[in-house]
Formats: sequence, C-alpha cells, structure tokens
Amino acid sequence: MSVARQLLKKVMTGLLPHDRFLVSGPNSRVTSDGREHSWKEVALTFDDGPHPEWTPDVLDALAEAGWKGTFFVIGDRAAEHPDVLQRIMDEGHALGNHTFTHSDPKRTTTSQFHAEVRRTDELIAKLTGKQTVLMRPPKGHLTPGKFRRLWQGGQTIVLWNVDPEDFAMSNASEPLEWVHTYVPNQGDVILLHDRLPYAATIIRALSNVHGRELRSVTMTDWLSGGRRAPQVQPDRATASG
Ligand SMILES: [Zn+2]
Repeated sequence: MSVARQLLKKVMTGLLPHDRFLVSGPNSRVTSDGREHSWKEVALTFDDGPHPEWTPDVLDALAEAGWKGTFFVIGDRAAEHPDVLQRIMDEGHALGNHTFTHSDPKRTTTSQFHAEVRRTDELIAKLTGKQTVLMRPPKGHLTPGKFRRLWQGGQTIVLWNVDPEDFAMSNASEPLEWVHTYVPNQGDVILLHDRLPYAATIIRALSNVHGRELRSVTMTDWLSGGRRAPQVQPDRATASG
C-alpha cells in the first residue's frame, strides 16, 4: 500500500484532522451561515508554474468565468517570474508550495525535501508579503518522515480527486472531450498544470458546459470558511501531480 493510501486510510479512520490533509473538499453545499447553495463548489488547482505565457492565460480564463483557483508553484520558476506570482495574488487566488525544483519526494532525503519546501515558503513570503500553509508534494509522493515534518511545520497537504491528465494531452480537442465526460461533484479538487497550454482551454470549456451548476473556489476559502469536513474518496485519488 502506498504512503498516500496509508495516509488516506488514517484520515478515513479519523486519526488525522481533515483540515491538514485534503483529497477533496466539503461534500455539503450548506455554508457556514446555514444556507444551501444551488451550485457545486469545486477547487481548480494548478501545478508546476508560474509560466510566463500559460499562467496569465489561466488567470484570464478564471477572470472570464468569475472563478478562483489555487496555484502550487515551483520555487525556482516563481523566482524567474515574480510578476506572474504577484498577479496571482492580486487577483484573489491562493498560492501553495510545490517544492523549489520539483524534485520527486521519493528520491530526496527528508532534509533535502524540507530545505526545498522552506526555501519556497520563504520566497513566496518575500515576493508577495503573504505566508502559505498549502503544500502539494510533486507527483503526490510522500514518505512518512516527510509527512511528519510537514505536519510539524503546520502545513496542510493538498492532493486531488479529479485528474484530467492534461499533461498527456497533445491537441486542442482533448481538453474539450474531457470536459464533456466530466460529471462535477460538490467538493471536487481538480488537478491541472499551468506549465501547459491546456488548462485555460479546460477552464473556458468548463464554464461554457457546466457554468450554471459549477463554481471554483480556493483551498483557502474551504479551510477558512468554517466548512472543515472534506470528504475523502481514496479510490478516486491518483498520483500524477
Ligand atoms: Zn508537479
């Protein structure tokens, strides 16, 4: 059993607080003021940026839809494109940590991994003036030692339950095909990559096809909104991030 699956099992059995390890968001549409919204709330998440061309395209698409997203950035790319990082923050989206060099946590030591995480956290704080506690390990890989250090550092680990596999797409029709087969569920965490050209196409198509029933919010909205009971669906978690 993989580490991710072991952790999921612990979450299922209540050993880990749900606001520190997320695979999906709240399964209830009832907000903290007691009202039930008619739309399904999902979280669009973007890994491996910022990219000078594709991240601004994603930001334009989110603005057109009126949606918010969460960007898990790689530190050395953020250092190259601080203006893009600032635009993400200025437009009300959330930032998360995706290590400094996108090293595979299965292949680094615990101290190397945490040095990368710390360096990225410090860079985000320096460039934007904001701290983040959100962390997504590359490829969704973690070892128990690395998990423990993140845990001790107060980080919230965010995986996903919907993977369109945009990294494997090779032409403009594949994003549209995926959107037409996708059946949205309240609380879905959708994995996309803003280092690739397909994320913005997927956002625009989601808005066109599912816009009446769907809204995307940030992970921070879910964690700070008093709705801290995400539904964990281990069988739908994959590991391509
Ligand atoms: Zn990644």
